Amino acid sequence: MTAVKVECVKGNIAAQQDMDVIVNAANAELLPGSGVAGAIHGAAGPGLAEECRALAPISPGQAVISSAHNLPNQHVIHCLGPVYGVDEPSDRLLAECFNHALLLADRHGLASIAFPAISTGVFGYPVRDAAAVAMKAVADTLEELKSVHLVRFVLFSDQDLSMFDEALKRESGLSGR
Ligand code: ADP
Repeated sequence: MTAVKVECVKGNIAAQQDMDVIVNAANAELLPGSGVAGAIHGAAGPGLAEECRALAPISPGQAVISSAHNLPNQHVIHCLGPVYGVDEPSDRLLAECFNHALLLADRHGLASIAFPAISTGVFGYPVRDAAAVAMKAVADTLEELKSVHLVRFVLFSDQDLSMFDEALKRESGLSGR
């Protein structure tokens, strides 16, 4: 296990210049769409959607990796979060997104990974609950990581940022890192 730093910042997931890989809150078909997927595909350019065609469709909890095209990162990992109240059990499927993305990044020898608040937009997952699931999933995966040493959550609003910061403080497996 490496020493892993976990942090929360306010910002745009598509503008994380210093991160090796960013995570897309994707749709099953890995198409541009709205929210995070729109921002990532918009910044990456049409080559990303072209590459993704061969990787789609994906199922809730799954993570696949592509190159980053015009983004300032090495790779993009695409996760399909659960639709809240539809894809069940939502908490396990959401945790799998973080677990699978972290292990995929690690297997590719990447050191830093930035996540958005997967499922909390059009998929309707309450942010406070999603933040707790995300932090627990990271804590539960740490032992398996060899290469990843920075995990960043990028939140779009002050309110979402404070809920993720709270969850980070509450997750005993991560506090003091
Ligand atoms: P999902 O379909 O998984 O719910 P969304 O893209 O609709 O994904 O939203 C996920 C979260 O990301 C929401 O909280 C939304 O406010 C936030 N978000 C939207 N655009 C961005 C962006 N460019 N960078 C970071 N977070 C974003």
